[in-house]
Amino acid sequence: MPLANSSDHIIQLPTTPSIDPEKVNASKIAREWLLSLEAYLSKTRPVLLDGIFHEDSWWRDMLVLEWDFHTVNGIHRIECFIGKNQPRVRLGNFCLRNGNGKCKPKMENPVPSLHWLTAMFSFKCAFGCGSGVVYLTQKSEGAKWKAYSVYVALQELHHCKERLGSRRPEGTVDFTDGIHSRPTWTERRKIEVEFHDNSQPAVLIIGAGQAGLNLAARLKAMGLFCLITEKNSRVGDNWRKRYRTLVTHDHAETCHMAYLPFPKTWPKYTAKDKLADWLEAYASIMELNIWLNSEVKIARYDESSKQWTVSLLWDGVERILRPRHIVWCAGHLALPKIPTFPGQSTYKGVVYHASEHADAGQHCPNGKHVVIVGTGNSGHDIAQDFYEHGARVTMLQRGGTYVLTEKHGLPLLPENAGIDDNSDSVPLEETDALSESLPWPVTLALCVDLTKQIATADKETLVGLEKAGFKLDFGIDGAGILRLIVSRGGGYYIDFGCSQLIIDGKIKVKNCPEGIAGFAERHLLLSDGSDLEADIVVLATGYDNMRESVRKTLGDNVADRCNDVWGLDDEGEIKTVSDQIFLHLEIQSIADLDAHNQARFGDQVVIPIFGSWEEACLFAESIRVLWLCKSLQANLG
Ligand SMILES: Cc1cc2nc3c(=O)[nH]c(=O)nc-3n(C[C@H](O)[C@H](O)[C@H](O)COP(=O)(O)OP(=O)(O)OC[C@H]3O[C@@H](n4cnc5c(N)ncnc54)[C@H](O)[C@@H]3O)c2cc1C
Repeated sequence: MPLANSSDHIIQLPTTPSIDPEKVNASKIAREWLLSLEAYLSKTRPVLLDGIFHEDSWWRDMLVLEWDFHTVNGIHRIECFIGKNQPRVRLGNFCLRNGNGKCKPKMENPVPSLHWLTAMFSFKCAFGCGSGVVYLTQKSEGAKWKAYSVYVALQELHHCKERLGSRRPEGTVDFTDGIHSRPTWTERRKIEVEFHDNSQPAVLIIGAGQAGLNLAARLKAMGLFCLITEKNSRVGDNWRKRYRTLVTHDHAETCHMAYLPFPKTWPKYTAKDKLADWLEAYASIMELNIWLNSEVKIARYDESSKQWTVSLLWDGVERILRPRHIVWCAGHLALPKIPTFPGQSTYKGVVYHASEHADAGQHCPNGKHVVIVGTGNSGHDIAQDFYEHGARVTMLQRGGTYVLTEKHGLPLLPENAGIDDNSDSVPLEETDALSESLPWPVTLALCVDLTKQIATADKETLVGLEKAGFKLDFGIDGAGILRLIVSRGGGYYIDFGCSQLIIDGKIKVKNCPEGIAGFAERHLLLSDGSDLEADIVVLATGYDNMRESVRKTLGDNVADRCNDVWGLDDEGEIKTVSDQIFLHLEIQSIADLDAHNQARFGDQVVIPIFGSWEEACLFAESIRVLWLCKSLQANLG
């Protein structure tokens, strides 16, 4: 169901009358609207859809009416979508969340010309239960409140509830007649991890980063046997091996792992080694099955048996596994994009990709000329590292870069609103549901205004940067950081101090839209005919599309069936490498779904497209049941 203007996803936000929140009984309006939706769906009363939805409304559906993510735009499409699926799904039992804070029905004014009433609700359907959010607007003052946008997300399956609280595991080991020595917890964990005796993981997860660990924890809680294969020798090494000065750019409160949030004493921004240790501890506490030092050598899928045959090397020993599903959690930054240039072989200096940068100090850079190619987050961090080690640093910039500051701009992102108010009133799951609830085209349209607000807050820095010759860009259509993340997973810098060094002329910027022409013995030759003296060149040139890293591990057969990530599809959902959401298959056997869905999802690989730590956490957060991946929330990289 493509969007009307699917090529660019630019939508016109509605204009509504201005409303005094004090004069609106938001709970009453929301409750009545939900009753009407219930009546429409159950046909208990004659309710017409156009009595409760606006003509140009939206329905965002995560695994409720279909086993996929869908964004449906326009009342007629919504009507068809509901009509096709409701007899099977039996969505209903709506219950308004009337709690505190963010969950409470309330009026919001996201942009000056738009006032909407937001309300959260819970629901049940044939397969499980979940939560939703409705955005109600009025066409004119006093007019009927109708839905501008509705979001529903399945969060729990009737037949596969997470083993939490009263359903938690006993922890004791059953005595079996005739077996005199019962395995202890340590012995049982060893047996579970090793997958000997023909036991097989239902799901093989590739990669023990945030995504893989979160996912494994969720699946384990749902009773699915998982194994993570991780090429590093310790969980967390993916962060430990990154550059010495790295501190993440996301507030800890937006990055919790499933079931085990960071303590309240946790710093706002996490140093990479601290994060690495946390991930390692998490894997141990959550009793996740991980094979370290292991890599998939060959993986083949058998359509008839609906299972994979995977050959892995684990500590140099070959093991064959037959999982039903493989989930690719190897990160979207797995394959560095490393350009080569004429004359590079005769260059006498040092050249390397940003992914190999560990510590500027290793290069004894004092007084040396360092050129950083690329002006994204890594480029800035590395430039700052070299500057602090006494190098003469120049950043080479081709196109414009979006910059927002940690101090003024970052707090304005919706995900950071009220984050430091120490309030525990809104459960994480509900915050996640809220942050996911708008269709991407609507979110991105709202971002245009937000980006202007951020630019105003960051004015001093932005003006200074331009004066210093740094080329700014405000993202596609002026929609700032979120649009850049969704579209290409990069192209921005969250300023943690490097911008001031540029403004002060301590780090130089050279603009050259056509980029590098080649290398001379001690210089970089630029396409505009100029050159830059360079003892060290760092290529902060980004990473290849995830599909190519899939190809490297799972081979052409799988990669050729995958899509490139980034951007929005015709409906307005984020493009993932794979259209299939593997857990659907698992649900089918559990919930005994219909043949249509079995045929549709009887496939093998799901490739989450994590662009950031937040995304990765949100992935598993949202996979309370099986909700998948993207949740590109307002993730920052
Ligand atoms: C320098 C740098 C700074 C960053 N800072 C931030 C930040 O501040 N905030 C933020 O949100 N994001 C940041 N990111 C992005 C970060 O990578 C993601 O946020 C997050 O780590 C994604 O988690 P993930 O689990 O999807 O992937 P990753 O963390 O990349 O984990 C993937 C795991 O898979 C393993 N692996 C890869 N290939 C294989 C294979 N074939 N077989 C077995 N194992 C494999 C890797 O060793 C790794 O352990 C940063 C990235 C970089 C490079």
